[in-house]
Amino acid sequence: MSIQTQNPATGEVIKTFEAHSDADVDAAIAASVAAFHEIRDWSFEKRAKAMHKTAEILEDEAESLGAIMTLEMGKTHQAAIAEVKKCALVCRYYADEAEGHLANEYVKTEASEAYRAYLPLGPVLAVMPWNYPLWQVFRFAAPALMAGNTGLLKHASNVPQCALAIEDIIKRAGFPEGAFRSLLIRGSKVERILRDDRVRAATLTGSEPAGASVASICGSEIKPTVLELGGSDAFIIMPSADLDAAVKVGVEARNQNNGQSCIAAKRFFIHADIYDEVKARFKQAVEALIVGDPMSRETDIGPLVNQDGLDEIVKQVDNAVKDGAQRVTGGHAISGQGYYFKPGILEDIPKSSKAYHEEIFGPVMLLFKVESLKEAVDITNESPFGLGSAIWTQDKAEQDYAIRYIEAGATFVNSKTSSDPRLPFGGIKRSGFGRELAAEGIRAFCNLKTVSIA
Ligand code: NAP
Repeated sequence: MSIQTQNPATGEVIKTFEAHSDADVDAAIAASVAAFHEIRDWSFEKRAKAMHKTAEILEDEAESLGAIMTLEMGKTHQAAIAEVKKCALVCRYYADEAEGHLANEYVKTEASEAYRAYLPLGPVLAVMPWNYPLWQVFRFAAPALMAGNTGLLKHASNVPQCALAIEDIIKRAGFPEGAFRSLLIRGSKVERILRDDRVRAATLTGSEPAGASVASICGSEIKPTVLELGGSDAFIIMPSADLDAAVKVGVEARNQNNGQSCIAAKRFFIHADIYDEVKARFKQAVEALIVGDPMSRETDIGPLVNQDGLDEIVKQVDNAVKDGAQRVTGGHAISGQGYYFKPGILEDIPKSSKAYHEEIFGPVMLLFKVESLKEAVDITNESPFGLGSAIWTQDKAEQDYAIRYIEAGATFVNSKTSSDPRLPFGGIKRSGFGRELAAEGIRAFCNLKTVSIA
């Protein structure tokens, strides 16, 4: 796959980029090491100044940065602008909180002084996906730089302009040359970087195969990794739920980012007592979604990322229907130019169908009728994934049951799964390991040094 900007709304290739050579990559790693030696000695105050400046640039340039994202991967311009603003938020969060998260933690022992110290590791490689092309990167870059690490970015091959814009913003904000470098390379070139002794750790957000490959190479090199992988999140609706809110948020949770979000609600478990009513309301709401030009303010859903993404979801839906699933509405490609897909709903998905188990990365809701919360949680946990989850109920005992027994990195009650710089984010099972954001995110790539002074 070449490194290029292709507009998903038209299929037109806008620009092709020459890949960086091995020599270019080596020079970038050398620059990253040099920048590390510089910023590890910076005070938190100095790092925070550059990080606040990063936030300012993001906010000032939200419209134009948003337009690059829309051009390269098809999310609506309104959603793209919101994403840029969220990046500014994570920059400000770590600018203000890094020092506290990384402060020495004193422990009383027989020594005169003992404490935990959090020290930076050095250059960290981030392998990132296209679906939130700025957010996924800044949620890594802000804590990494505030901890005194440096970053090397291997972004997805279809968002090179986003990758270059991020490098440029961080440089303009005042971080040293080399502190954050974008490498325009293909996935096959990642191994060489992971095996370079100068690169101390890696993080990958993306699919299971990519995560397994990066983690196994890092395993053989004894390097720490954080993996943020796929999900098939449950969205459970019980009879006591506020149905107006549950339906509105459920449709948003599935269709946000043109349905291409790791933490999208993908499987909806609805109690039998309210199933028919909720299904009818979902159908009405999904049919009202406006699919079209992602630059238009009226549009709810833009095109899918590329031809492969469109073909894959069409195949998944058609196979599920062949296996016996019922199509409630939509779920098919829209003819004409661009990779447009009509949002859909499936029900009665048989357990033997692949769609029952796999992640569907696009705007298709899977509905399941359940007789009890236990049944909903049991089916939720049959999934190989464990990223987010949501339950809608006013019943405290049901809330507690879901929090205790759903196997996932997060459970949201009466809302949708979302990320927030103040809260840790990550999954279990095949959704990955390690956590980003909050204190855990900045400590993930630190040397937790034990210090004891006799
Ligand atoms: P992907 O194909 O795994 O790509 C992600 C990144 O990994 C890209 O930069 C890609 O480069 C690179 N890559 C692919 N194969 C590789 C390999 N063998 N070795 C090293 N690097 C490799 O994922 P995607 O299709 O773009 O993204 C969708 C997936 O990401 C979904 O499963 C989604 O749920 C998941 N995701 C998870 C989170 C989370 O926070 N948990 C967030 C967003 C997305 P190329 O582009 O050059 O192939």
